Amino acid sequence: MPAEPATAIAMLLDYVTLLTAVGISAACLSIMIFMGWLMAPKDGYLLACSAGGAVSGLGLLIYGFYVAHPVPLAGVVAFAIIIAGLSLLVGAGYRFRTDRSPRPLVIRLTLASWVLALPALAAGYTGLGFVPINLAVGALLLLTAGQYWQARREAPYAIASLCGLYTAMALSFLACAVELLKSGQPVLDSAPQGWAENLSLLVMIACIPGVGAVTLTLNQARIARHHRLEAMTDALTGLLNRRALFEAAASLALAEGTAVIVFDLDRFKAINDQHGHATGDRVIILFARAMTHHAPQPAITARLGGEEFAVLLPAASAKEALGAAERIRHRFRELTAELEIAGLEASVSAGIAFMNGAGFEQVLNDADKALYAAKNAGRDSVVIADPRIASSRASLQAL
Ligand code: GH3
Ligand code: MG
Ligand code: MG
Repeated sequence: MPAEPATAIAMLLDYVTLLTAVGISAACLSIMIFMGWLMAPKDGYLLACSAGGAVSGLGLLIYGFYVAHPVPLAGVVAFAIIIAGLSLLVGAGYRFRTDRSPRPLVIRLTLASWVLALPALAAGYTGLGFVPINLAVGALLLLTAGQYWQARREAPYAIASLCGLYTAMALSFLACAVELLKSGQPVLDSAPQGWAENLSLLVMIACIPGVGAVTLTLNQARIARHHRLEAMTDALTGLLNRRALFEAAASLALAEGTAVIVFDLDRFKAINDQHGHATGDRVIILFARAMTHHAPQPAITARLGGEEFAVLLPAASAKEALGAAERIRHRFRELTAELEIAGLEASVSAGIAFMNGAGFEQVLNDADKALYAAKNAGRDSVVIADPRIASSRASLQAL
């Protein structure tokens, strides 16, 4: 009878050689991923993934020894190590998904899998004893796929292919378990070897480099997203910066009636001069806090630069916009008073304009003019860029 395709291919090369190749491939993958981690040390999942690859690779090399010299202890050691490596891979997926330490999960998975998978082989069942081992390996690979799958929104195509690779490897081990069960032999003279084991080896040869490539691609995508985010964010306050605000305004195609409120801290140079730049920074952070907490949702808040800020309020009436600006102005005064720095009195002025068919930049200019009017009127107030409405103090009740 002609040999099955997987067996025919595997027979071209000796099983131990192929196994060694898989082990070396896993170790190389782990080095590549470790280099990736060195470049992005915050991405701890890469370190866990690299450790998982290295440990599994070592286990595979020891299993190669078992295939050549089938002493149960060698098999138990090999799979104890492989199971620890695969648990680390589940941990890497968990870390990727949650950014939390995977250590407790890895320890629990390793211990549970050892207890469930290894005793039969340790007791000398070199045939059926590999059933729980293959089941454990398959389950750990499926769990890894499951961790990434739950995070698929981050990079759907890359994560779907990563899950496909882990699942393919898992299925090949589950097939080994089924074949061993079907053969029903409790003890074998040599390591289990049939079409399922050969297929599993070929699947690993195909999938391990794929896992490495996709993992590094995912990492690159994360780094790129991080840089994009950094370029859009103001470092001191965490708010959007001016560029990001203009991009948001352009992409959202702001509807008519959207309120544009600009704020400028009053006599801020004097605060810096009298209390130091560090206190000035604290005051800026307090204003950002007042603005984010008291701008009604959905609002877009940004630091335009220096001590100038902007809030966009979609579909806000003049009364709502004025009310929001006043709440922010009051809260800012309270927060700076709570600092209890002798002689520190901080206040803010604001100008409001509404999208009216002109471009965002024009409306921002209109709001700036209203702000200038608030400054000229003595500061610590809000003015709407509407000729029919005067300064907020007088107009709030009228609205
Ligand atoms: P006005 O009431 O007219 O707005 O007076 P002002 O002193 O606030 O006016 P001006 O815009 O001239 O001063 C702004 C100051 O803000 C000047 C600059 O040194 C300071 N500044 C800009 N960015 C920062 C920052 O990130 N931290 C600190 N501490 N100060 C900053
Ligand atoms: Mg200014
Ligand atoms: Mg100012």
